[in-house]
Amino acid sequence: MSNSSSNPTESSAKPRVKNQPVSLNLSCPECFYAKYPASGFCTNRDCAQSERSSRAMTGDEILRQFELPTLFHGRRWGTWTLDTERLCLVYDASQEERGDGSGRTAGVPLYVGYFGKYEVDLETIRHSAGMLDWIFQIRKKSWATRAVTKDLLNALDSIFHPQENLCSGHSHKTIKDPKAFLRSRFETVGVAA
Ligand SMILES: [Zn+2]
Repeated sequence: MSNSSSNPTESSAKPRVKNQPVSLNLSCPECFYAKYPASGFCTNRDCAQSERSSRAMTGDEILRQFELPTLFHGRRWGTWTLDTERLCLVYDASQEERGDGSGRTAGVPLYVGYFGKYEVDLETIRHSAGMLDWIFQIRKKSWATRAVTKDLLNALDSIFHPQENLCSGHSHKTIKDPKAFLRSRFETVGVAA
């Protein structure tokens, strides 16, 4: 994000390597959930690092302290990792470089992707039924422990905010253009207006 503005002479052909969560210190060192950017507390309520300050705070302080982290490339909810390039939520992911060099991807700019054992194609989620289908399909997997399913719910909540965008007040909503919806979420969540 800030890379392009800080170095305007760089051409658009530069590798599309986005935020590196570890180096930018955006993630909790214990559970790898994102941290609240202002306070540094962990967004995972089950993590010891999520401890809140006990001193009295003004409404503004509280609001600022819990400003949401952005939906950055590589953001994790436990065992799930968001790949904002491929629009996937990846289980048990590791970081891999793709693009130029493999032969099959000649001419494709180099980028870091997240690849793992299983992935949720976020673009297929257009309504509540689509999301429920993913949740209960994954629930049946042998590797879907309590932590895995909880992390999945947390990830889907952060990415989609379903109660606003899919199922507000028990009513049915449809995401007309999933790609545009996701891009808009990535650009706006946690970004000061
Ligand atoms: Zn944590």
